[in-house]
Amino acid sequence: MRRKLVAGNWKMNGSAESIRGLLEGIKAGAAEVAAVELAVFPPFVYLELVEQQLSGTAIAWGTQNLSEHASGAYTGEVAGPMLQDFHCAYVIVGHSERRTLYGESDEMVARKFAAARKVGVKPILCVGETLEERDQGVTESVVERQLKAVLDLEGIEAFNDAVIAYEPVWAIGTGRTATPQQAQDVHAFIRAKLAEQNPTVAAETRILYGGSMKAANSGELMAMADIDGGLIGGASLDAKDFLAIARSGC
Ligand code: PEP
Repeated sequence: MRRKLVAGNWKMNGSAESIRGLLEGIKAGAAEVAAVELAVFPPFVYLELVEQQLSGTAIAWGTQNLSEHASGAYTGEVAGPMLQDFHCAYVIVGHSERRTLYGESDEMVARKFAAARKVGVKPILCVGETLEERDQGVTESVVERQLKAVLDLEGIEAFNDAVIAYEPVWAIGTGRTATPQQAQDVHAFIRAKLAEQNPTVAAETRILYGGSMKAANSGELMAMADIDGGLIGGASLDAKDFLAIARSGC
């Protein structure tokens, strides 16, 4: 039985003050949605604050990116062992904004996935097609290529300690959500690809949906057989909205 995960990607938003308020709100309502696992992903500089606020609660935290390297002359980067210092449970790798704005290739994303696992931080691997790719009918081959880079480097067993997030790029931050059936079709495809290599791992791997998920659509999305929660951007910046999404998955 896969426990649902509702994860909030705060992107480059927030201040120390707003984050304190947001976490107070989430903590106040977390017990009501205990059936679902909650996780938040602040900008790096607020990691210590988030750890202080969430230690001892059931809410997990992590970061939105990490370096593929463990240490060294990589100005501006943050390494896996540093995430371990702040007891991160998860790290997002291969978010489409990293792939498109910062040129992260499938191979680099795979190396980041490996770097996270090396320090015991669970990667949340983001995959998904652009609108152009969907219109060309190549959604499955794009997602398969993104997944394959990780499978080739790390092997199927790596997904025992990882999560996948299917995020159609055309739905991120656009207000346009995939229909439950569109999302389910791709989730089922991803699970089938994993099952070709190991049916047990495939059955246990959580696959989240991301892309303009909000309380108004999260219930029907999370009711689909292969959708195991959500990776939430905009709606995760409001405690009430974030908790309402989680409640719809209970
Ligand atoms: C995201 O950035 O992962 C995301 C899903 O954003 P939004 O919910 O704002 O579309």
